[in-house]
Amino acid sequence: MQKMVILGATGSIGSSTLSVVACNPEQFSVFALVANTNVNKMLEICIEHRPKVAHMVDEKAAAELKKQLPSHLGIEVSTGEDELLSLVSHADVDSVMAAIVGAAGLPSTLAAIKAGKRVLLANKESLVMSGQLFIEAMQASGAEVLPVDSEHNAIFQCLAERTQLEIGRCDLAQAGVSHILLTGSGGPFLTSELSSLSSMTPAQACKHPNWSMGRKISVDSASMMNKGLEYIEARWLFNARPEQLKVVIHPQSLIHSMVQYRDGSVIAQMGNPDMRTPIAHCMSFPERISSGVEPLDFFKVGQLSFLEPDFDRFPCLALAIEACKQGQESTTVLNAANEVSVEAFLNGKIRFTDIAIINEQSFRHVVAEPLTNIDDIMALDIQARRYALEAVSKLN
Ligand code: NAD
Ligand code: MG
Repeated sequence: MQKMVILGATGSIGSSTLSVVACNPEQFSVFALVANTNVNKMLEICIEHRPKVAHMVDEKAAAELKKQLPSHLGIEVSTGEDELLSLVSHADVDSVMAAIVGAAGLPSTLAAIKAGKRVLLANKESLVMSGQLFIEAMQASGAEVLPVDSEHNAIFQCLAERTQLEIGRCDLAQAGVSHILLTGSGGPFLTSELSSLSSMTPAQACKHPNWSMGRKISVDSASMMNKGLEYIEARWLFNARPEQLKVVIHPQSLIHSMVQYRDGSVIAQMGNPDMRTPIAHCMSFPERISSGVEPLDFFKVGQLSFLEPDFDRFPCLALAIEACKQGQESTTVLNAANEVSVEAFLNGKIRFTDIAIINEQSFRHVVAEPLTNIDDIMALDIQARRYALEAVSKLN
């Protein structure tokens, strides 16, 4: 029985994870569920999954949950940063699903890594921010990190076993890999008139053609900042050099990414676009379990198409690639600025096209010292957020 902590349990990835747990009750049990403010959802999943602990980051939400949770369930309610960090490091915990959205997920994800847990990594922002430190922490503790992000999970599945065992420090060239082909759908605005992008609403940006996801990542998909963050994520997970990474637009989202080998072979991982597949893969690796996902029906697939990314349409993707080449300080700044600009867009404060403007201004102006520990990263994150917030208010 694998005992799990699910960080971000009330979100989209959290729900998909709990649904895979429910498909395989004899193999997985929930030790703790962690969320921010959503008491109603937390109550519902606590009653269904009976964790030992339910942790709410928001203190008021924790108090409210405690009031509403039937006491006969014997579920402990907790709150507080230290409590969260000790929860993920608890001796009884085998694996941690890291699915908090944004920079907020970094401390708990890193704590799970330092405690040597099996970490199922959905929270790409934490890797984008901490890069080298994340990989070093992984190597120091021997924690096993498995990529949940569908593209990285696909790439992982297309690699040979010995390369899979060396995540974060593999030698792609030695493994015969010439390119990692990171696919992305291009999001809801792939074919929209360029002139219409500035008037796109949050509802339009969140209407992804193939995937159902949280609001932040949905906006990132519309701007292709998501692919940019994934480019940086791939750089660290697969120890890839920029010339080994290519972004390919594939609007149908049936191929989730590919690995191209020196001998001309290309290995692709395919499936219906449903996060329960990569989640189940990570939960049971190296075994396979059922995920509840419909098998891909090749007679209904139709045509698969591929395009080169257009950086005029997707300036955030170009920025992220540039930041990746510059290093961890630049990617931390870009990530923080993007969280601020996306939030401002979702709150109706700026236009869709302003996201790239704020991101670029912050990226060009915030100067960073080399990062040597998590406190440096968090301080730079705050500094970049402050800059981006000011840029938002100037645009207003
Ligand atoms: P979501 O918005 O649906 O859920 C976010 C979760 O994080 C919620 O449970 C929320 O309570 C929690 N949370 C938010 N702020 C928090 C804080 N300050 N402290 C603790 N918890 C907090 O998001 P999602 O779509 O499930 O995405 C989660 C992560 O997974 C993101 O990093 C995203 O990039 C990544 N991811 C998501 C998908 C997807 O299909 N949804 C795919 C790949 C990667
Ligand atoms: Mg992805």
